[in-house]
Amino acid sequence: MRCGARTPRDCLEDHVWPYLREPKPTAGGGYSVLAPCHEDTTHSLTISAGVRGVVWCCHACKARLGKELMLTRTRQALIGDHVPERCLPIPADEARDLTEEIRGIVFGGGSRAHGWLRIAALMQGYDGLPGGEELAALAESPSGTGCAFALACVPIFPVRFSWLAARAGPSRDQRPGTGIVL
Ligand SMILES: [Zn+2]
Ligand SMILES: [Zn+2]
Repeated sequence: MRCGARTPRDCLEDHVWPYLREPKPTAGGGYSVLAPCHEDTTHSLTISAGVRGVVWCCHACKARLGKELMLTRTRQALIGDHVPERCLPIPADEARDLTEEIRGIVFGGGSRAHGWLRIAALMQGYDGLPGGEELAALAESPSGTGCAFALACVPIFPVRFSWLAARAGPSRDQRPGTGIVL
């Protein structure tokens, strides 16, 4: 990950947790926290490990300001509490980074099967390919190479990949009607 943590979970526990106000573990594996973005007495902020990084939501600010503004306001307030900036990915930046990485894989040469596996790994939040059991689990996952090798499974991908393809700009070749860049 950009901040040097191995996984979003490590980032949350090692980099972010020390700066949270009165964190209480939640059933989902994250924390319910006193929000720094407004006067808070009710632990309005939930923060947890997402697929590609730490994710946060101040429910009070979201209700008042809407999701987009909440994300940036709450992020700024967390940074004000000394949470490292690079541990709080801005969704738009993340999407751009992901698009660039996928572009690199799609147009970078190498076998298509290997490319699919690398993209599947990216979607699961890995930087590069994991090893051993994690790689085996990835290959057996719905978005893994089991699918990559069986092109019959390709219809699973269009929803996720059509927006990525749209953001990746003009492509050299596209599978007709699917938006999948080949
Ligand atoms: Zn981190
Ligand atoms: Zn708030």
